[in-house]
Amino acid sequence: MYDVKSMKAEEFISDEEIKATLQYADENKDNMEVVDAIIAKAKLGKGLTHREASVLLACDNEEKLQEIYDLARQIKEDYYGNRIVLFAPLYLSNYCVNGCLYCPYHLKNKHISRKKLTQDEIRKEVIALQDMGHKRLAIELGEDPVNNPIEYVLESINTIYNIKHKNGAIRRVNVNIAATTVENYKKLHDAGIGTYILFQETYNKEAYEKLHPTGPKHDYAYHTEAMDRAQAGGIDDVGLGVLFGLEMYRYEFAGILMHAEHLEAVHGVGPHTISVPRVKKADDIDPEAFDNGISDEIFEKIIALIRVAVPYTGMIISTREGKAVREKALELGISQISGASRTSVGGYAEEEPEDDNSAQFDVSDQRTLDEVISWLINLGYVPSFCTACYREGRTGDRFMSLCKSKQILNCCHPNALMTLKEYLEDYASEETRAKGMAMIAEELKKIPNEKVRKIAAEHIADISKGKRD
Ligand code: SAM
Repeated sequence: MYDVKSMKAEEFISDEEIKATLQYADENKDNMEVVDAIIAKAKLGKGLTHREASVLLACDNEEKLQEIYDLARQIKEDYYGNRIVLFAPLYLSNYCVNGCLYCPYHLKNKHISRKKLTQDEIRKEVIALQDMGHKRLAIELGEDPVNNPIEYVLESINTIYNIKHKNGAIRRVNVNIAATTVENYKKLHDAGIGTYILFQETYNKEAYEKLHPTGPKHDYAYHTEAMDRAQAGGIDDVGLGVLFGLEMYRYEFAGILMHAEHLEAVHGVGPHTISVPRVKKADDIDPEAFDNGISDEIFEKIIALIRVAVPYTGMIISTREGKAVREKALELGISQISGASRTSVGGYAEEEPEDDNSAQFDVSDQRTLDEVISWLINLGYVPSFCTACYREGRTGDRFMSLCKSKQILNCCHPNALMTLKEYLEDYASEETRAKGMAMIAEELKKIPNEKVRKIAAEHIADISKGKRD
């Protein structure tokens, strides 16, 4: 049974409906009349259903693929402009009671060093991140009710928001912790978190249960219904993701779009972000052990099609991917990236010792934040550290309506320029600063509203004089 508004995971992510979708996609992928009609609908910039997008994913006509890529670029430009938001993950604890087969934190892994940061150590990590120029973090923890209770998470968030160091503070803390109760989501909401992120890993219930054989994460329904509980707890920015490589990508693709449709239908707002992680090598984990790894080409196609199917949803790519893949992904739809990430507990303040194996996975993009910023500028993207929407209460449907009305150039773009200016003044190398200043001068001219343009120019001049937000 398929019921998009049902609150039961097995109904809004119906296995039957996904299988019917894959069959529909196979039956129509070579029917150019159907494919063209779907592309024409996508060009309206209002998204596609999971069935329509799945037909395009199955279609392997080169010409149509080019059309889809061009459209993905256009949609990204229309809704997100050329700015790219930056963040860093902060690993607080790798204690975990789950048995996830793909994750080195799994309980049975006895040779990984287990660490949990004290509040003092968190301060050191955050200061190291601030010294690079970061303003937006995603905190990451394993699931362990004894070692990582919600009180620890709340205390850590409070610590992070209250560190005033040199040129400002961390302005947005996103949270990636295991599925929890409505009461705990309320507490996270009250602590002022940004987005609540939870990857589904796989939407295929049977595979999910095998991949999570033990621990609280084994419960497919509890995990899949987490975003509904988060909404019930008052969190209206939620971030979805699947871990590509675990299961068949076409199944996951239909599943994640159905999840987005469900959130929109029930809560009036779709996911704030969608992440696209791929399984990586890690301590005790060999990605080859999973049969469903996807090529870079399929990965790019998925990114472009998510962009086209849910135009208003931000898309995130992490340092699991290297420079070349990230470059292509940025073109096709990604709007947020992490930079200079460490996936070990305590990895920012101190260089990881050779024998430290506390990292969650191998990082492919190992560049410094300054190198990442310089690269973005070279590619014509405006690196943004902006958190204004969140701080001014533009979350959930209020953010979405801003995005839908394409107010980017008058709102996000000037804010991006101001935060880039702060970064250039406070943290950048000389070379990056020179390039960035030239970019700001050019980009200011693109702000259509004269009044907004003037205000942005004034703020930018104030930043040169030492004023900070
Ligand atoms: N413990 C939390 C949970 O259960 O959702 C989330 C935190 S975990 C640090 C963040 C994500 O890392 C997981 O949801 C998973 O998708 C991803 N991950 C785990 N092992 C990985 C691996 N070997 N390669 C790439 N990503 C991995």
